[in-house]
Amino acid sequence: MNGTIIALAACAATVAGVIALAGQAAQDAPKKETSVVNLDMQSPQRPDKVVRTDEEWKARLTPEQYKILRNKGTEPPFCGVNLEKKGPGTYLCVGCDLELFRAGNKFDSGTGWPSFCEPVDKDAVWYKTDRTHFMTRTEILCSRCDGHLGHVFDDGPPPSGLRYCINGTVLKFVPEK
Ligand SMILES: [Zn+2]
Repeated sequence: MNGTIIALAACAATVAGVIALAGQAAQDAPKKETSVVNLDMQSPQRPDKVVRTDEEWKARLTPEQYKILRNKGTEPPFCGVNLEKKGPGTYLCVGCDLELFRAGNKFDSGTGWPSFCEPVDKDAVWYKTDRTHFMTRTEILCSRCDGHLGHVFDDGPPPSGLRYCINGTVLKFVPEK
């Protein structure tokens, strides 16, 4: 009986050691995905949060906007919405008018989707791991209405090295006055 307890205790110590080692290894390993952004975010709490029912969203958005923003759809590449250069201005969320991206941070990624190297500010968007379509990607969501915007990848230009790949359909361009 005592032997069993000792064996269990030894086993528990080993398990603890392995967990500690795993933790260490996780810290040392190159953080390919998590270096991009904090993936373990919850929907941010903010005083101007926009919460609507599905029916309200359907009434406010076009079917295409609804499909992308509320149902995590993806527009076809090169569909042209907000893809071309438009001069200085800001891109807003079609769901809630939150300022998301600046025209100055837009670049031609050649992918067929509007691409930005960073959001207007870090609190404008939040992130979630997306494991659909047999891939692991990082989903970008609007922090005010939790609408799906696109995905972020770490093959963007310096200095951020990030590519915010956004569905132009859910962006509203407001030129600088
Ligand atoms: Zn929004």
